[in-house]
Amino acid sequence: MKTIENISRMSTFVKMMKKEGKSISLVPTMGYLHEGHLSLVKAAKKHTDVVIMSIFINPIQFGPKEDFEKYPRDLKRDEEMAREAGVDVIFYPSLKDMYPEGYATYVTVEKLTGNLCGESRPEHFRGVATVVTKLFNIVKPEVAYFGQKDMQQAMMVKKMASDLNMGVEVKMMPVVREKDGLAMSSRNIYLSDAERRDAAVLYQSLKNAEMLVKNGERDARKVTKAVEDMIKSKQSARIEYVKLVDAGELSDVKMITGEIALAVAVFFGETRLIDNTTIMVK
Ligand code: AMP
Repeated sequence: MKTIENISRMSTFVKMMKKEGKSISLVPTMGYLHEGHLSLVKAAKKHTDVVIMSIFINPIQFGPKEDFEKYPRDLKRDEEMAREAGVDVIFYPSLKDMYPEGYATYVTVEKLTGNLCGESRPEHFRGVATVVTKLFNIVKPEVAYFGQKDMQQAMMVKKMASDLNMGVEVKMMPVVREKDGLAMSSRNIYLSDAERRDAAVLYQSLKNAEMLVKNGERDARKVTKAVEDMIKSKQSARIEYVKLVDAGELSDVKMITGEIALAVAVFFGETRLIDNTTIMVK
């Protein structure tokens, strides 16, 4: 496995691979790897010759009061895990290389980014769309892998790639969870023991909601209320949103029908976690 820390060297490597007729996939991450990230690598390895994982903590997707400074970093550990999972190249560009002085170009995707996390993190998706566009332009992958843990992000990237004819197939892979159901996240490390125990309620509340719908509940408000009540029973939890949305448009629904997504964002102490599930109702 190679680690390439510079954009022009990455471009040279990509050119070489293309010349040899190799197909390339990209797994964009912010590092501090866990099994969720590695599941994307596993999928990528099945479909392409060369798997490139980017590790870049992208400052422009963090709000001024968010955790850019303290986001966990451990390149050595990431390199070991990535090597073991079969990553061919880690692309680890510097901040200065990605955003040199005078940088001025940003990408925004409308509609899909208005609801859910877009309401509380207005700059976030613009930051993600911009960095992903840059990574696609540098790595020129045929396929890129994203996790459903960040469903709105994956859907936005898919839409962007299609709207802008980027020629990248965007795949969304299932959420990988801890034993108690908590979605794996680099940010779980921030949780105290009590918060970590409380956080398991997210998955329990999603499962409970699935059950309610399966048993015939069609009133979105009743389902979100049940989810909210379960989450509120945990002392360290503070809800940002609990929403039922159309799984295609991510717009709020009142009645549950067709394919819908239940998405939640909840603070446990200072740590903001998100999770979601999609439910199909015939
Ligand atoms: P991050 O490093 O948090 O920016 O995540 C990088 C990629 O891994 C994104 O596409 C995430 O959606 C995906 N990812 C993060 N956590 C999980 C998880 N628990 N299961 C599946 N994919 C995940």
